Amino acid sequence: MSKIKMINPVVEMDGDEMTRVIWSDIKDILINPYVELKSEYYDLGLPNREATKDNVTVQSAEAIKKYGVGVKCATITPNAQRVSEYNLTSMWKSPNGTIRAILDGTVFRAPILVEGIKPYIPTWTSPITMARHAYGDIYKDVEAKVAKGGRATLVIEDEDGRREIEIFDFGKSSGIVMGMHNTDKSISSFARCCFNYALDVKQDVWFAAKDTISKTYDHNFKDIFAEIYESEYREKFEKAGIEYFYTLIDDAVARAVRSNGGFIWACKNYDGDVMSDMVATAYGSLAMMTSVLVSPDGNYEYEAAHGTVTRHYYKYLKGEETSTNPVATIFAWTGALRKRGELDKIDELVDFADRLDKAVIDTIASGYMTGDLVALYSGKNKAVKLNTVDFMKKIAEKL
Ligand code: NAP
Ligand code: MG
Repeated sequence: MSKIKMINPVVEMDGDEMTRVIWSDIKDILINPYVELKSEYYDLGLPNREATKDNVTVQSAEAIKKYGVGVKCATITPNAQRVSEYNLTSMWKSPNGTIRAILDGTVFRAPILVEGIKPYIPTWTSPITMARHAYGDIYKDVEAKVAKGGRATLVIEDEDGRREIEIFDFGKSSGIVMGMHNTDKSISSFARCCFNYALDVKQDVWFAAKDTISKTYDHNFKDIFAEIYESEYREKFEKAGIEYFYTLIDDAVARAVRSNGGFIWACKNYDGDVMSDMVATAYGSLAMMTSVLVSPDGNYEYEAAHGTVTRHYYKYLKGEETSTNPVATIFAWTGALRKRGELDKIDELVDFADRLDKAVIDTIASGYMTGDLVALYSGKNKAVKLNTVDFMKKIAEKL
């Protein structure tokens, strides 16, 4: 069999710890035997971020802008403990944060469904994709305590002049106050990312906020989504047979639980933080989630939603057998190769990505899996726990 040829490269961003080990195993066992892989390699492992003063992270994001498709391994976000463990000269920022700031995007996360692995909400038979706005609101707020007798006001200076609005006169009790913001530019790009993604996967978009209570702030989100939908997307959506609808966040939660899944749930930043964890857990496991950052000008970065699985890595270093789940990382690779195939019109590459995804799902459904899934499995076969490499070899057999 001759290997599948590529035209343009994917931007490959290597990472840390257990996921770095899995990264090279995936290439050896599941990709290189079938694809003549063209990748532009960036080592985002912490030692190389240190050696390059984190320039490598910026360079990799610029490369994604150039080539349009990237695939990223999980990376350590340093804290004080990591600074001493890795002898760092600086507590380098989260690579995901750096890349997101350069690409300006929305993160889409969807569960990978497998027969026999039952969601905690049994009616969720199709995946719910969470689309989280990754800018502003309480994540960029300012907060203060106010003493008894204090008064807090909001002062705005813009082309309309200076306005001062009273927030609260605290009188007899001390209290707290908060100021937050978002920008029309960021909200607009969030809306376009969601609508483009929906056209890509042919699913409805739900967006929810609390505009009945927050009549200017949340209402602005609702208005921007509506304007962009009507002027740029309504026709395309109707042609694709999908729809966009807006509802209140509490109504959306109730509808989601009653639904069968199969839609994109666009959330404001905080709602997305909370609801993503609820949805991920309800479907089973963070190691069974896909995650992709989509930028408004059409760049894609695929990754796993989990971290570097440090606890397993320390066992691996001691020579102990590990059964770390590689599924989310494999799906990051297939996501990137599929997108590369679509953009470059290489049908065999798209087909290969589809087959590898199916081989992974079929392998688990037939009873072969990593340790984290054994307790969740209630399929008709007997669950067999495999170590990471043997699990990938089983997938290769299916493939
Ligand atoms: P984690 O790596 O996601 O692991 C937390 C626990 O979840 C693991 O100990 C393991 O549970 C389970 N788990 C996660 N992924 C798994 C997999 N693929 N297979 C089997 N079990 C899995 O989170 P963390 O330990 O909090 O963070 C470790 C490092 O990752 C940190 O340095 C953090 O900065 C980094 N991080 C990176 C990203 C990213 O790059 N996207 C995201 C989050 C965290 P058991 O131990 O019970 O088996
Ligand atoms: Mg969170």
